[in-house]
Amino acid sequence: MSSKSLLENVIQQLELVGESLKLDRNIIEFLKHPKRTVEVSVPVKRDDGSISIFKGYRVQHTDARGPYKGGIRYHPDVTLDEIKALAMLMTWKCAVVDIPYGGAKGGVICDPYKMSTNEVERLTRRYTAMVSDIIGPFRDVPAPDINTGAREMAWIMDTYSQLHGYLIPEVVTGKPLTVGGSEGRLDATGKGIAICAKEALKVLGLEKTSVAIHGFGKVGSYAAYWMNKFGVKVIAISTHLGSAYDSGGINVELAMEMGVNSDARRIMNYPKGQVSKDPDVPLYVDADVLIPASMENVITSKKAERIKAKLIVEGANGPTTPEADKILEEKKIFVVPDILANAGGVTVSYLEWLQNLHREHWSLNEVSNKLEERMVTSFKDIYRFLLKNKNISMREAAMMVAVKRVASALKDLGVWP
Ligand code: GLU
Repeated sequence: MSSKSLLENVIQQLELVGESLKLDRNIIEFLKHPKRTVEVSVPVKRDDGSISIFKGYRVQHTDARGPYKGGIRYHPDVTLDEIKALAMLMTWKCAVVDIPYGGAKGGVICDPYKMSTNEVERLTRRYTAMVSDIIGPFRDVPAPDINTGAREMAWIMDTYSQLHGYLIPEVVTGKPLTVGGSEGRLDATGKGIAICAKEALKVLGLEKTSVAIHGFGKVGSYAAYWMNKFGVKVIAISTHLGSAYDSGGINVELAMEMGVNSDARRIMNYPKGQVSKDPDVPLYVDADVLIPASMENVITSKKAERIKAKLIVEGANGPTTPEADKILEEKKIFVVPDILANAGGVTVSYLEWLQNLHREHWSLNEVSNKLEERMVTSFKDIYRFLLKNKNISMREAAMMVAVKRVASALKDLGVWP
């Protein structure tokens, strides 16, 4: 683990970028703090009749460019500082792909694997009710994140709608198709990562490549699936309980059919190659591309030393510590940063919100084309910025473009009163 928290890291990053951009100190100070932080104690009736209290958060970083946007995660390790950091990263992410949203994040400290479906539903509905005053279609639009998905989003939509007396699908994105979800939202983050990887491979002039994926959940599994479709061989995958390595190629579709992406334990049943209990195998194998798609702070300096990949495309939010980042730079590894690489999810969330507001349903083809166009354009914009500004990394380039966009909006809005 990094000695610093993710929040300290993102604030430090903002300070550095602010200096490089010669931004007004007041604006930097403004952006270091989330605009609103809400903490709720969510009472949930357990199946045995007892009541548990779960701590929940919703942090809204800035809405200078549009309504707050960001997922809600359920995890035992959630902390307020982590959610604050992730809310800030959402602001940069939306700005990098130039969609008119601000940044937010929510989280509940809980272990959904130790709860029944009914308990998770009661938790989701009560949490929604307790933050219902600060969310809304033009206020703050939640979405899935770690351990939440279409099912939870439907409950959020229904609870919010019941409280208002009519159906309001545009309050949340990542919903099931039956209640206003968008075609292509499920695999959007993974596909966006693969599109970025493809663009980066072109820039680096690499062909006939292989990839290792750390984290085979909602994001990593679809990143693997699309990398495969783009002709890149997947040689290692992992969950937090183990890994599978096969230099001849992992059968991604088989792993998905086996449910490795929804139940971390199933990795141990993968029938081919070498299976081990070490989840970090993908980090060190001889693959040209590495996609960290599990959690934050996974690539520490110690681990960075051992990475052999030439290209890292960050699927998770904040997977690389700043110290590790320096090492990767010294090793001349090309890193496509999280705020660009994993922005496919929020991009299709935006498309879903637009469809809901217009009461339309677009074809998969239309959504896919829009996603591809947005990801490729954003990658090229950031890469062009990097070429213009010698000696900066893709992360610095992406941050500089994002912070500049947000700072300009803040400046034009001014401080009231
Ligand atoms: N939780 C996802 C992320 O970190 C999606 C956010 C969204 O769609 O609003 O990007």
